[in-house]
Amino acid sequence: MKVVVDEEKCVAAGQCVNAAMDVFDQREEDGIVVLLDENPSDDLADDVRTAAAVCPALAIRIEE
Ligand code: SF4
Repeated sequence: MKVVVDEEKCVAAGQCVNAAMDVFDQREEDGIVVLLDENPSDDLADDVRTAAAVCPALAIRIEE
């Protein structure tokens, strides 16, 4: 699984961090998403899919 985030779309809502805190973080200054792991392991795949699904800005793309 490969994860791509679009910082331009991100509205700093933080749902991705709640869903998968090992993969996503937010910048201190403005809350914009920080991708911690662009190739998460299989055991994180469900959490990453949840993060992409709940992101209100559709800023998370998953390439299988
Ligand atoms: S859930 Fe989406 S909009 Fe919110 S911080 Fe994560 S990537 Fe950005």
